[in-house]
Formats: sequence, C-alpha cells, structure tokens
Amino acid sequence: MAKLRPNRKPVFFWQGALILLPVVVLAAVSLVSLRQDSRAAEADARRRASENAQSLARAVRSSVNDELQRFLTLQNVWTLDLFSASQPYVSNAPDTQLNADVEKWERDFPGLTLADLAVPQGKILSDGRQIEPPDFPIVPTPPKWFRELSPAQKCRWEDLRSAASPADSKARQEAFLTNQPSEDARDAAFFLAFRPDQILGGARPLATETGVSFQDIACYRLLSATDAELSTPLLNSVWNQAFESPSFIAQKLLDLAGGLTNRADAASRQKYLWMRTYWSCQSRARECLGPIRDLPDLKPWKPLWWSHWTRRGETLAILQAMTFVNPGVDSAGDSLSGQGYQVWFVPRAVVEAIFTKALTENRFLIPDYAAPALAVEGWPLPLRGAFATADGKDLLGRSELRAGSSFAQDAIRFDLEFFLTSRDQMLSAERRRARLFAGLILGTAFAALAGLVAARRAFYRQLELNEMKSNFVSSVSHELRAPIASVRLMAENLERGKIPEAPRQREYFGFIVQECRRLSALIENVLDFSRIEQGRKQYEFEPTDVLAMARTTARLMAPCAAEKGVKLETDGVEPPAAPIELNVDGRALQQALVNLIDNAIKHSPAGETVTIGVERREGTAPVVGLYVADHGPGIPAEEHDKIFERFYRRGSELRRETQGVGIGLSVVRHVVAAHGGRVLVQSAAGQGSRFTIELPARSQHE
Ligand code: ADP
Repeated sequence: MAKLRPNRKPVFFWQGALILLPVVVLAAVSLVSLRQDSRAAEADARRRASENAQSLARAVRSSVNDELQRFLTLQNVWTLDLFSASQPYVSNAPDTQLNADVEKWERDFPGLTLADLAVPQGKILSDGRQIEPPDFPIVPTPPKWFRELSPAQKCRWEDLRSAASPADSKARQEAFLTNQPSEDARDAAFFLAFRPDQILGGARPLATETGVSFQDIACYRLLSATDAELSTPLLNSVWNQAFESPSFIAQKLLDLAGGLTNRADAASRQKYLWMRTYWSCQSRARECLGPIRDLPDLKPWKPLWWSHWTRRGETLAILQAMTFVNPGVDSAGDSLSGQGYQVWFVPRAVVEAIFTKALTENRFLIPDYAAPALAVEGWPLPLRGAFATADGKDLLGRSELRAGSSFAQDAIRFDLEFFLTSRDQMLSAERRRARLFAGLILGTAFAALAGLVAARRAFYRQLELNEMKSNFVSSVSHELRAPIASVRLMAENLERGKIPEAPRQREYFGFIVQECRRLSALIENVLDFSRIEQGRKQYEFEPTDVLAMARTTARLMAPCAAEKGVKLETDGVEPPAAPIELNVDGRALQQALVNLIDNAIKHSPAGETVTIGVERREGTAPVVGLYVADHGPGIPAEEHDKIFERFYRRGSELRRETQGVGIGLSVVRHVVAAHGGRVLVQSAAGQGSRFTIELPARSQHE
C-alpha cells in the first residue's frame, strides 16, 4: 500500500537554492580566477620588463661601443695633433678633416666641448710609476747624483756650497772633483761654482738638491727678467721644460711665458696658445692618473683591458695592459721599462652623454611602467632627458654587460636596471579586463537574483491560484447544491400531490424555472470560463440592437431582483430611444451584462435600486457604454484591478455573505475585450459601484 505523505505546504527553498547555487559557485570561481589572472598578468609584465632590460642592455652596448670608439679615436687624434702643433720650430697646418670631425661630434653631443674635456693618453707601470705624461720629480727628494754621493764627497759638496767668493768656489769645486763624483754631480758642482744666481742678478743661492733642473731655473730667470721677450728659443725652452722634463715649476714657467705673449709675434702667440691648451689637457691626464697609480689593482699586472673611475668619479680610465721597452728614465734616473698600462680617459660628461644617447635611441624598449637606472663601473649615472626617475624600490629587471667591444675590449662594466614606477599602469590592461568580467559576473548574479525573485513570485502565485481553484470547486459545488436541493424538494412535493392549490403550484413551477435558469446561467459561466481558459471560446458577431439586448436582459433579471427585494431600473434603454445597432456576439454580451446585473443585485441591500443604462460618447472614437450601477458596499480603488482576476473574490472565504465563484468579472472582461472594448469600474468603499461595458460604436467586426 502506498504510504501517504503528510500534506505539507510546499516551500520555495530548494528551487531557489538550485537557481542560486550555480551562480554563486560560478561567481566565486570567476573571482578567484580573476585574482589569479591578475597575479599571472603581473608576473608576465615583470618577466617582459626583465627581458626588455636584457634587450635594452644589448642595444645600449652596441651603441656605446660605436660612440666610445668614435670619442676615443677623436680624442687621441686631436690631442696628438695639438701636441705636435704646439712644438716650436715645427710648422703644422691645422687638420681640416679633424676639425670637421670635432665639430660634428660637438653637434651630436650638444653642451660638450672637446677642448675642455680631452685628456691625452697616459702610460703607467704596474708599480705605479708614470711614463706618460712625464712625472714631476718628487720634491724635495734630492736628485740621484746627490743621493749617491759618498760621505767624503758630501763633505766636499757642503764646502763648495758655503764658498764665500768666486775664487773660493773654484778651488772648492776642484777639491770636490778629486773625489770622482758622477757626471751629474760634476755638472751640479760646475753650475754651483759659477753662481748663476749672481750672473742672472738673483739674490738667493740655488738649491739644486730639490730636483729642479738647472734648465728650469735658467728658464725661470730668463722669463722673469725685466727685458724678457718671447723669442722662439725661449719658447722652445719653455716647451722643453713643460713637456720634456716637467717639474712643479713648469706651470709657473708657462704663466710667465703667457705674460710675455702680448709682446710676441702672432706665430709665437699661436704656438704658446696650443702649448698652453695641451698643457691643460696633460694636466688633466696627470690629475686623473694620480689616483689610478695608487690603485692596488695594478699589481699583479693583468694582460687585460679594464676600467676604473678616477677619484670622485670624474673620469673613466680604461687601462690596456702593455709592456714598455725603453720608454725613458724617471726623475730619479731609473729605467721605466717593464709591464704597465696604457690609459685611455673618458670624461664623466662624455660617459653620461654616450649612455644617455644609447638609451634614448632604444627607449622603445623601456616599458611605460618602468624607469631605467644605469650604473657604469659601479657609479650611478644620472640619466638626462625624458626618462622617469627610478625610486629604486621595486626592481623589475636587471642586466649587467660590458661595453667597449673592439676598441676597449669590453673593459667597461655597466648595470642596467628597471624599476617599477606605476603598478596601476603595469596592470592597466588586466584591470580593464577584470572590471569587465567583474561587471559580467555581477550582471549574471543580478539576473539570477531577479530570476529567483520572479520564480518565487510565480511559485507563490501558483500556490495561491491552486488554493483559489480548490475554493472555486467547492464554491461551484456549493452554488449547485442549494438550488438543486430546493428544486428537487419542490418537484417532489408537486409529484406527491402535496401542493394541491393551483396558484401555489404555479408559484412552485415559477421557482423551479427560476432556479434552473440561475443554474444554467452558472453552468454557462463555468463552461464559458473553461472555454476561455482553453482558448476555445468562439464568438459569432452579427448586427445586434444592444438597446433591445439590454432591455431583454433587464427583464430576464427582474425576478432575481424581485426575489432579493431590489428594484431594477433602466435608463435610456426603453423606447422611444432609437436602437443602437452594433456588430456583436449578442449571446456573449448578454451573458456579460447578466454577470454585472447579478453582481449588482447580489451586493445591493434590499430596497435599493440597480440601474441598467446606456450612454453614448461621440468624438474621434465614439463609444457606446452599457452600465450597471448599484448602491451596494462599493469596492476600494486598490481592488479595482484584482476583481477581474479569475477566482478572485473579495473578503475571506468564511465571512463571505454573497454567493459566487469568482469568475463572473473575468468572463465579462474577456468577452468585452473580444469586442474591442473595455470594462470600467467606478466605485469606492460605501459608495456603490458602477460597471460600464464600453464598446466601440463603429465595431471593428463590421
Ligand atoms: P463572484 O462570483 O464572486 O461574484 P465576480 O468575478 O463576479 O465573482 O466578482 C468578483 C468580486 O468582485 C466579488 O467577489 C465581489 O467581492 C466583487 N464585486 C463584483 N461586483 C460587485 C458589486 N456590484 N458591488 C460590490 N462588489 C462587487
């Protein structure tokens, strides 16, 4: 036997859960995957930036190689040219091709002037001694010959120095020579014995032990003489003192010579100018070499190219390992042969300009969310130009390469780094996509929610309808049972002859007919309703006098009204009103009118009047209105729509006083709509009701 389930009220929970659950799961999964997507996009952007850093470094290297070679060549040729032009007795026409190259280079690197920057090559030994430019004698170290004097020789030397008169000097010089001093010592003794200070009019005796050569001093005296002129031999000797055997006094000699140029001829002035320019270039080389010579890296000697910033990073020195054979002697007279380095200099401004140019040429490799940072041999280079400044916080990519290629054989190490400038910019494409998807997810969730609400409403509406339907069934049964019972009772009484009187019998028959009519009206309504619901209801339109139809209907309903003690009145329906002929389904329209009159009678208290009337409205769309007005309890405005819904009955099932099944008005509305008309309600609680069937005067079915 089938087990009966308890009749539980269905609830809309699982259905709702089934609608929402997939959406919630989908949204959650999408959100998680969006998050992952964003992480992947970030990783991707970082990887791209890192790859770009590598490519950019390679591109920078190749551009720097070219420019470095160009600069070093130009600097070398230019300084050599200047050096040879500065020599007296040598006439050099200016090299026009070289000048054109220099001009072009200066145009390519605006703001840089080669003459202000150029540093001639240097040469040093790995023990730190300087070959090129020639080193100054170390002051106040005595010269080599003085250091090599024996104690006896030293004694004689002191005697010579303290000689009081020229004759005395001569004797003491000879005494000194008897001890066989070296050749330099002899020269020194010879010079001292002649007292050039006295010859040249100076006041102090010479101090040859400081390493200043006699030529230096002689030159100094000549230049500072009151009647000195910048003759070619004097210029030559200045040149010799400045470039052949320079000492700390060379600068002074050049300055003195400079003071004489206004009295010199144009050629000497030009020579002096070149000499002076070369001197300042060479001084820069000397200055730059100073710290390089002290580097501990020089030893052991490395047969490689390498580079190093000079002190404070002003100049980049590129060292080329080299073995020097007989390049001369140092100020102490020792040979400068040996393993060392040729040093090429690149001023910092040029390094910056070359790297900035290389970066600018390849800036398309810099992602818009990154800022580059560059360091050359460990020194950060400020990047001039329109590059974002790196804050050094979030490193995206880094590449370390060596530049210098063919010329300086990859001697220069540089690091290129990319730092993140804007996370928002890096993820902008991804963010747009994420926003789109988030919008879609939200839209879907919203649609699902709306669907859920609609489904829930439909669900409960269906429940309500089901309840109404079952009420309808019980109402119909109830409506049928009472009249059938009374008809049966009266018919039985008549059959058994219990009502002998003829007038009573007529009354009974009248009742029976009346009840049967009401029953068939009810059944007709139910059948019509069912046909309408199934879409099977057919209308037969034919020209009908609606006034006559209204009259007949009023008469038909009169007994019903009388039974209830309600007065039925007509308004403008009776002759002599002219007939109104419309193309309608007379039967259906009559049934609609019957439903309205039946409702009016039902809801009118005994003694009240129900009016059936006709009104015409002319205009562009003329209408004919059949109205039924009563003085019943009326219908509140908020229920004017609801009463036309099927099965809808006002009030609670238990407390309802009027009979009915709740389909009358829905049938009326359907019938009227089929005629192209509409049903209007004018009613308010406690003020009676007036239902009007409005039909187009020129029926569409004509
Ligand atoms: P019923 O069979 O209940 O009359 P209807 O569809 O004809 O069904 O009417 C729906 C509801 O409209 C009724 O239950 C009643 O409450 C209300 N109604 C209809 N006509 C009137 C009227 N003339 N006066 C007051 N209420 C009315």
